[in-house]
Amino acid sequence: MSTLTIHQFACRSDNYGVLVHDAAANLTAAIDAPETDAVRRALANKGWKLTHIFVTHHHADHTDGVLPLKAETGCAVLGPKGEASKIKGLDKLVGEGDTFAFGGSEVKVLETPGHTSGHISYWIPSQDVAFVGDTVFAMGCGRIIEGTPEMMWNSLQKIAKLPPATELYCGHEYTVANAKFALTIEPENNALQARAAEVEKLRAANKATLPTRLDVELETNPFLRPQVPAIRTRLGLEKAPDWKVFAEIRERKNRS
Ligand code: ZN
Ligand code: FE
Repeated sequence: MSTLTIHQFACRSDNYGVLVHDAAANLTAAIDAPETDAVRRALANKGWKLTHIFVTHHHADHTDGVLPLKAETGCAVLGPKGEASKIKGLDKLVGEGDTFAFGGSEVKVLETPGHTSGHISYWIPSQDVAFVGDTVFAMGCGRIIEGTPEMMWNSLQKIAKLPPATELYCGHEYTVANAKFALTIEPENNALQARAAEVEKLRAANKATLPTRLDVELETNPFLRPQVPAIRTRLGLEKAPDWKVFAEIRERKNRS
């Protein structure tokens, strides 16, 4: 097993780009390509040469850099089977249950639809890390643009069942707004109160609040907590299935 070095960088207005580097194999993957120049600068910064792009979904803020970066580096582009017609430059299509080698590490593909209908996440179990795109955010989740609430709920469940120490890299810095909203759903959650204060401080110092860790999300992310009795009571959904409670929380966030 080799060790990967992960470099996260802010780009566009609130996106994160991520580079994953295997020094022994001399490989570098970009998780999505939000912006050509920002990815280029991050590579130069590290002295790494781009060999792969792993695309999570077709939105422009995740794919704008794919064609230019591929043209200048000759990198291989992997992306979701379910969005093959919407993403230009894909060399390899991947879907649920697919695994592939990245240098000395095994990468597992999880289909996590809901934000878009073919959205995928990349999980590297040996490194306890997952790249979840716009599925989960710190104390939040992606907007359901193409899918249904049930679909999104199933995707969140898939991520929630990964090992609790899994580091989650997400597509956007939405954390402070998410924390404020989360407190309207579960104001009595002490871990959430503490975290909301902590992320305010990080952002005031212009620091990233990501990556996050699954165990922290399980304690503070309302979208992963529809089973909590206090939340159900607050929403008047004591007897509803989890996905319906999730759907109501998502609806409220859309209106917030
Ligand atoms: Zn998106
Ligand atoms: Fe996005």
